[in-house]
Amino acid sequence: MAEPLTCSAGKSGPTLSVDAARLRAVAVAAPVAQTEVLPLDMACGRVLAAPVAAASALPPFDNSAMDGYALRLSDLAGAGPWELPVSQRIAAGDRSARSLAPGTAARIFTGAPIPEGADAVVMQENVTRRGDRIVLSAPSRPGQNIRRRGEDLALGAQALAAGVALTPPRLALLAGSGVPQVAVRRRVRVAILSTGNELAEPGHPLAPSQIYNSNRVMLRATLARLPWAETTDLGILPDDPQAIRAAIRAAAQGNDVVISSGGVSAGEADHILDALRAEAAELDVLKVAIRPGKPLTVGRLGGSLYFGLPGNPYAAAITFAQIARPALRKVAGLTEAPDAWLPAVAGFTYHRTTGRREYVPVTWARRDALGRPVLERLGQGASASLFPIACAMGIAVIPPDLSVIHPGQPLQVEVLGE
Ligand code: AMP
Ligand code: MG
Repeated sequence: MAEPLTCSAGKSGPTLSVDAARLRAVAVAAPVAQTEVLPLDMACGRVLAAPVAAASALPPFDNSAMDGYALRLSDLAGAGPWELPVSQRIAAGDRSARSLAPGTAARIFTGAPIPEGADAVVMQENVTRRGDRIVLSAPSRPGQNIRRRGEDLALGAQALAAGVALTPPRLALLAGSGVPQVAVRRRVRVAILSTGNELAEPGHPLAPSQIYNSNRVMLRATLARLPWAETTDLGILPDDPQAIRAAIRAAAQGNDVVISSGGVSAGEADHILDALRAEAAELDVLKVAIRPGKPLTVGRLGGSLYFGLPGNPYAAAITFAQIARPALRKVAGLTEAPDAWLPAVAGFTYHRTTGRREYVPVTWARRDALGRPVLERLGQGASASLFPIACAMGIAVIPPDLSVIHPGQPLQVEVLGE
């Protein structure tokens, strides 16, 4: 359940830690209720709406884990070596295996059904073949090289819990246990918009005082990587309260989440807050102790979740990743949180102002004796800078209270993907 929010828009509230702000954003988010049934082929990355039970035992029958010979251990009495005649041949997919005649072995291949009566498979490498007989000198133990029916997953056992994302291995598990389709939550509908009279799209000439829109493609591309989201791009809106108001009202009606960039600080030309207030949104202006990042607006607008990200691109990227994305994951129905940071050490010196958790673009070319990346800092921390983040291999997390970082200082780094 989303917590009711008091309208704190524009009021000065306490500064929240990044973790507290994230919790607040997640608390406002509610999972989409609708589900759809998809074949496995269409379901990669989607979020399971209900637990799934195995429709077939995995594996469905006792089978051989090796190419070799199936035998009865009771036939290996006394001291070896032992010699057994080969009474049948069983390949994967064979349906005609007979029960194993006492005192004989069956030639068997990986994945083939274990004949009734056999209780071990000896690897072919451990056997000498003499015509239609085998000789073995090492004893076997019961069940050796036999994959038992249901040992991976019993018939009817839970294969996956609700709220997990369907990764390729999880899809393989479902297929292996006979599940052809899954109920997943429908995709989260996200509308994005950029605000600013100064913005132009690349490909168009820049008028004096204009800049190119970086946030639009950044947010679009970020969302395009989330298989459980679909994006509507509302383009650039001018700094005009009426235009913004009409656009966000329409966006909130057809979407689960609306994300804007720019226009959320207290500057005169920052109309997002006015427009949201006029639309009677329940808002929280979060003063987050984060760098880069400005006040971040989180709230509910009609039935949808609203994120007003800062306009500066690096700040927009960081606040999206740290605060909006966890809330979006909850809307998607995900119950697992990724935990993809690595322990690292600083390879740089940095004197800084304390009080805010800082996200620093970093790269590394070597690791220390413990295997930790030795980080080099990129850029000077400017929230408008794009070049450092574009070159970064990861984002180092600087704790709020550290006033100086020396080489060797342990730090966490969040590794950026491709
Ligand atoms: P604002 O939050 O609207 O005050 O914008 C803060 C800074 O970010 C200003 O310098 C804007 O020009 C810049 N900015 C806003 N939106 C974008 C955008 N979509 N792409 C690049 N820069 C932007
Ligand atoms: Mg602006």
